[in-house]
Amino acid sequence: MNSELSFDSMDLSSEILKAVRAMGFEEPSTVQAKTIPLMMEGRDINAIAPTGTGKTCAFGIPMLEYVQLKDSRVQEIVLAPTRELALQIGDELTRLAKYIDGVRIAVIYGGQSISRQITALKRHPQIVIATPGRLLDHMQRGNIRLDAVHTMVLDEADEMLNMGFVKDVTKIIEATPSDRQLVLFSATTNQDVLTIAWKYQHDPVEITVEATKKDRPQITQYVIAVDQDQKTDHLLYLLDADEYQRIMIFCNTKFMTDKLTSRLVKEGYDARCLHGDIPQSKRNVVMSDFKRGKFPILVSTDVAARGIDVDDVEAVINYDLPNENEYYLHRIGRTGRAHKHGVSFSLVTFRESVRMDEILKYMLTAPTPLKFVDGVLCTEDGTPFFSNI
Ligand code: ADP
Ligand code: MG
Repeated sequence: MNSELSFDSMDLSSEILKAVRAMGFEEPSTVQAKTIPLMMEGRDINAIAPTGTGKTCAFGIPMLEYVQLKDSRVQEIVLAPTRELALQIGDELTRLAKYIDGVRIAVIYGGQSISRQITALKRHPQIVIATPGRLLDHMQRGNIRLDAVHTMVLDEADEMLNMGFVKDVTKIIEATPSDRQLVLFSATTNQDVLTIAWKYQHDPVEITVEATKKDRPQITQYVIAVDQDQKTDHLLYLLDADEYQRIMIFCNTKFMTDKLTSRLVKEGYDARCLHGDIPQSKRNVVMSDFKRGKFPILVSTDVAARGIDVDDVEAVINYDLPNENEYYLHRIGRTGRAHKHGVSFSLVTFRESVRMDEILKYMLTAPTPLKFVDGVLCTEDGTPFFSNI
């Protein structure tokens, strides 16, 4: 983490300092040290930092330092791409707000009953964390107004501005005052982020935390060449070879996610699955049980690839290679969080090897730099990247 700046030297309230200590944080991470003071000054920020380096608190702390407790209007909004991530951000902000009396935080997401959310909104939250579709729905029904919003955060900003979301997100931004603070956070970025930044931010500060030794997630990445019909056997071999307490397996389709989970259960593994066709209440139970360590293997589509923070995920397995390069980085970034060490395995068939090459090329320029050492592709500390076991 960052040794130049301590939480104590950051001009934080005693309530936040107490909460940060209770959360076990000794010093701010680099992205926190760089963004918290600027965000507290009210600046618009466009921050890019590797996975698992504490971006949530980087925006959460300034949000809670700003909140006007006596004002019962919605003052601060965070948008997130998945329901699971919205809930997780809500939990992290609630932990940060533990010693601040009178902060009300509402999490608004699709799949939960509208009436329950209306009740939450009637309690006049100052802070709302939401997925865009459902927030827009509430705006259109007149359940929430954004005309007093001071700060708006897009977490996983590049994903929020992807095709599926950009229209809704733009409508939401336009419902807030034009002088609101707009803050963008992600581990990866793209052209859409620059466009939105250009259109809606005022004199933004660009902050990029390079994946240097100190701030790079420590993930040893293995690529295993397999035949399609051997994928499951290789997976079973991997699961048996190391007794992982917590492991995430990613597939590309809901069908494959279900099928693989059934197979694992049949083989005697305690595996559960997560994807968009599972009812939201069940999704919430699966996610929170996995976080609490109630079962060791989560098989998921990319709904769990972005932003999800589970302590001590030891390994990530790509059963299928993701169709988008960024998702490789986000998937493997579920391990190696908060300076712990993680490992990832990608099961790659001959047909997928072309994709793997593309991903490797992307990773060479992505926030987790790789380099050649004696002709072998390695992470910065010399760990071989490309390996067969
Ligand atoms: P990111 O959004 O960058 O992927 P998160 O905000 O999810 O990362 O944080 C990853 C983990 O690190 C979380 O469990 C979080 O509680 C923890 N964390 C955040 N800030 C610190 C800190 N300053 N010191 C230690 N751990 C931290
Ligand atoms: Mg995050």
